[in-house]
Amino acid sequence: LKNTWRVLVTGGAGFIGSALVGQLLASGHSVLTFDKLTYAGHLANLDGWLDHPNHSFVQGDIAERAQVEAVVEQFQPTTIMHLAAESHVDRSIASAGEFVRTNVIGTFTMLEAAAAHRARLDGAARERFRFLHVSTDEVFGSLGPDEAFDENSRYQPNSPYSATKAASDHLARAWSHTYGLPVLVSNCSNNYGPRQFPEKLIPLMILNAVEGKPLPVYGDGCQVRDWLHVEDHARALATIVERGRPGEVYCVGGESERTNMEVVHTLCALLDGLRPRAEGRSHAELIRHVTDRPGHDRRYAMNIARIRAELDWKPRETFESGLAKTVEWYLANGAWCAKVVADAASRLPRDLARKT
Ligand code: NAD
Repeated sequence: LKNTWRVLVTGGAGFIGSALVGQLLASGHSVLTFDKLTYAGHLANLDGWLDHPNHSFVQGDIAERAQVEAVVEQFQPTTIMHLAAESHVDRSIASAGEFVRTNVIGTFTMLEAAAAHRARLDGAARERFRFLHVSTDEVFGSLGPDEAFDENSRYQPNSPYSATKAASDHLARAWSHTYGLPVLVSNCSNNYGPRQFPEKLIPLMILNAVEGKPLPVYGDGCQVRDWLHVEDHARALATIVERGRPGEVYCVGGESERTNMEVVHTLCALLDGLRPRAEGRSHAELIRHVTDRPGHDRRYAMNIARIRAELDWKPRETFESGLAKTVEWYLANGAWCAKVVADAASRLPRDLARKT
C-alpha cells in the first residue's frame, strides 16, 4: 500500500476514537491506540480491532509526560490524531478538575512530545508528520437564530468543558505558529452513532425509553444542535490529515440542525415502530422536562463551506437514516450497554457514578 501512515490515536477506546481506529485500519494504516480507559473508554469499543495485525493498544494517560514520551518513542508515529478528552458537559459542571488536567495539560503534553519527536525526524519524514487536534463547536459559545459558526468565529466558551477545549485549541495553534509543528485543528458539531456512552442525549434516551424510564429533557427542549454521524466525522478527520493545510482549522458538521425535542420525538417514533409499548402507548409519554443545565447554550450550527470546497468532504448519512441505524444498533447491543455501564460504575467515584 502506498502512502500509509503510522497513527497514534489518543482516546481511541472512546466513542469517536473507536470509529476512527476502525476506519484507519480498514484503509491499511497502522494504528496505536493510547487511552487511559476512564469510565468513557472501553476495550469493548475496539472489539474486532484489538487483534488486528496493524493495531496495538497501550493503556496510558496523556497528562503523564513519561508515558507519552515512551509510547511516541516506541511507535515512531507519522501522524498523531489527538482525541482523548473528558467530554461530558454535565460532569464538567459537577467537577472540572479532571477536565483541566486531561484537556489542557494532556494536550500540552501531547504537543510537546510531538514537537520533540518531529525534531528528531529527518527530511521527508519530518515534512510528512502531522498532528490533528480534535475539538468541538462548543468553544464558540451560543448562536442566535440565523448565524452559523465558521473557522473565524470568536471563541466564547461557556461551560468548563468548552473552556478547557478552547484552551487546548489555543495551545494547538501556538505550537503551530511558534514551533512550526504541522498542526491541524477540527471543530465538529454533536456526534451520534454506535458506541456512544449512555450519558449523552441520544443513547440515554434510547436506553431509558426501552426500560420504560422517564426521558429527562433539559428546560423547554428547544436547544438546537447540529448532528453528525460518527462515521462521517471519522472520515472527515482522516481527510483533514490527508489533504488539510497544516496550521489551518476545519469546521465539521452535519447540516442537520434539530431541537432536542425534535430529536427525542424522532427517537420515540422510531422506538414505537421497533419496540411497541403495551396498549399502543407512545414512548413520547415518558418525556419529562427537568431543570435546565446551568449556562446551557441555546444553539450551535456549522458552516462547512471550507471543508467542502477545499477537501471535498461532506456528510453522507442523513440524520433520519443515521438515527434509525443508531436505534437499531442500541437495541441489538444490549450486552455492550450493560458492560460499559457496569465498567464505568466500578471506575467512577460514587457521587459521579450516580449521574449515569
Ligand atoms: P469519549 O468521552 O467517548 O472518549 C474519550 C476517550 O478519551 C475515552 O476513551 C477515555 O478513556 C480517553 N481519555 C480520557 N482522559 C484520558 C487521558 N487523560 N489519557 C488518555 N486517554 C484519556 O469522547 P468522544 O465523544 O469520543 O470525543 C472524542 C473527542 O472528540 C474529544 O476530544 C471531544 O472533545 C471531541 N468532540 C466530541 C464531539 C461529540 O459529539 N462527542 C463533538 C466534537 C468534538
